Amino acid sequence: MVSDVTLKRDGTLPVRCLGLIDHSGRTKVALFSQQAQQQFVENTVVEISGVYKKTWQGEDQLVTSTVTKCQFVSDDAVKSNVTEEDVKYFEGLTDFGGSGHQQGDTKFTVSGIEDASIYHGCDYDGCHKKKMADGVCPTCSGTTSLLTYRVKLELMKEDGQILYGVVFEKDIVNLFGQIDVAEDTTHVDLMSTLVYRLPCQVKGNILNGKAINLRKIVE
Ligand SMILES: [Zn+2]
Repeated sequence: MVSDVTLKRDGTLPVRCLGLIDHSGRTKVALFSQQAQQQFVENTVVEISGVYKKTWQGEDQLVTSTVTKCQFVSDDAVKSNVTEEDVKYFEGLTDFGGSGHQQGDTKFTVSGIEDASIYHGCDYDGCHKKKMADGVCPTCSGTTSLLTYRVKLELMKEDGQILYGVVFEKDIVNLFGQIDVAEDTTHVDLMSTLVYRLPCQVKGNILNGKAINLRKIVE
């Protein structure tokens, strides 16, 4: 995903964010000055060098340095499939808010567990545990899978309004820690386990019924 160029430091510093995915997962990088002003096309392959990894507010990102290079590569062999989940994830980040999808974070209390389901998801990293359809991954057509789950959270805003948002295993692990599921784990078991870890203060957004980029608020 490619953000619009915004100007920082009293309008003197152009900044552009790129949402990136590869076989290992999702990340983002902020480019500055001339690099920010390059034209980028979504769903193409770029090679970025001279960056280092940093975790900021629960999100992994790449940080540029004076030797950073960012250029197109015409090697589609390394191209990862962009899933709907990837797009929603990036749209949930404030860096890409220029496209009009999102504003800033909202604070919520996770006040209940509305529903849960345990299912087989594709075990290829780039597919982020996409739900298998009749034993086949709709994204990569792979047939190997592992158990994963999704959970519908009841989220209370500060004004008392209740909203619901679906989150996936990775978000649950971030918020509540590792939860093991087995073939004989029922959705009720999973919900009961989670209920004991409530309430929990989080921030993030809800978009189309999905909770996006939920992070625990650490007091
Ligand atoms: Zn797959």
